[in-house]
Amino acid sequence: MSFASLGLSQNIVNAVIEKGYDTPSPIQAQAIPAIIEGKDVMAAAQTGTGKTAGFVLPMLHRLEHGAKPKSNHVKALVLTPTRELAAQVAENVLQYSKNLNCKHAVVFGGVSINPQMLALRKGVDILVATPGRLLDLYSQNAVKFEQLEVLVLDEADRMLDMGFIHDIKRIIKLLPKERQNLLFSATFSDDIRQLAKGMVNNPVEISVAPANKTADAVEQWVYPVDKSKKSNLLTQIIKQQDMQQVLVFSRTKHGANRLAKQLTARGLMSAAIHGNKSQGARTKALADFKSSKIRVLVATDIAARGLDISQLPNVINYDLPHVAEDYVHRIGRTGRAGATGLAISLVTQEEYKLLKDIERVIRQVIERKIIPGFEPQEVVPESKLDSRPIKPKKAKKPRSPQSRSQAPRANG
Ligand code: AMP
Repeated sequence: MSFASLGLSQNIVNAVIEKGYDTPSPIQAQAIPAIIEGKDVMAAAQTGTGKTAGFVLPMLHRLEHGAKPKSNHVKALVLTPTRELAAQVAENVLQYSKNLNCKHAVVFGGVSINPQMLALRKGVDILVATPGRLLDLYSQNAVKFEQLEVLVLDEADRMLDMGFIHDIKRIIKLLPKERQNLLFSATFSDDIRQLAKGMVNNPVEISVAPANKTADAVEQWVYPVDKSKKSNLLTQIIKQQDMQQVLVFSRTKHGANRLAKQLTARGLMSAAIHGNKSQGARTKALADFKSSKIRVLVATDIAARGLDISQLPNVINYDLPHVAEDYVHRIGRTGRAGATGLAISLVTQEEYKLLKDIERVIRQVIERKIIPGFEPQEVVPESKLDSRPIKPKKAKKPRSPQSRSQAPRANG
């Protein structure tokens, strides 16, 4: 199957070919024709499936010959949970629209609002935005929605997890009733379905990755260890396995900083990425990681979300996540597209319960390993698979309203 056979215009097909893609991914093959037809879409797809091109390409196709946006107006709006994801989506828009006369802009919190107001002044075809900053711009009359034709919610599950539900509802109320709605989410929980009810019309439902199932190509190991020996063990594993590119997850921002410093001091060039880092520092850390200037990126869950670092060879959970589903998201970053990945978790006695929850969600007991010299004194009990059905989670209480111009919590 080719991109041209999906009904995309030649200008767009050429941009895709120049990017080096020859075959549409499964999500693209299903979503592109439906979106070109003008249908609403609900798609269950994680980062790494090609979902971004799945909505950007057909959106460009629809906008290519339409009326141009008036001053401050927007024709298509893409909402994302984090600045990083917004920047990545905008980068995709730029690349895929290189042969078109299509204006786009990207707006998010944590940086000056003035250049964003200027960018919107002439009107844009596609605006990529995080919810808080968008509402800020709206309240200052910098953005208008009367010409809006398409709304995309990207990583909708993350937006709900991060407490954006009220912002999203407020934004939806500002948009014309007649519009196309595209909802992308890694999972379709009851909360997402509830949100979708008030948003999409008779949608085409697409699913490409079963929820809560880890990729078979990912090998998973647990190293039981004492807390005091965790950071030495981490160093040892990275060196012993000769890992050249590894994403390490830390539960706290402070822990991420400390770990990145320790690893660097031990000869493993590292950087930390989390919500207290400036946008510039985060962008640099990610670029250095991608270009192999640094070997280790230490991230908090929220900062890592939506990062376009697919096909990583190694992911290490320095701390286990508190929410078992986050484990699935974390290790979903390795072993994509046929490559094998390795996901390692360092587990202390204190974290045993979290490990049990994870093993229950992924429905497997993870193989354990021990490196001589790191045998735990505080025993982590052997796991047995708990096959009781998992109760649906209660809806989370939304967070208190955040400072609009910063939206720091949304970024870990
Ligand atoms: P996404 O799921 O949108 O984050 O995309 C994951 C990665 O796959 C990105 O690096 C894209 O540039 C890449 N990609 C998207 N579509 C294709 C395709 N049809 N063939 C090969 N790579 C692709």
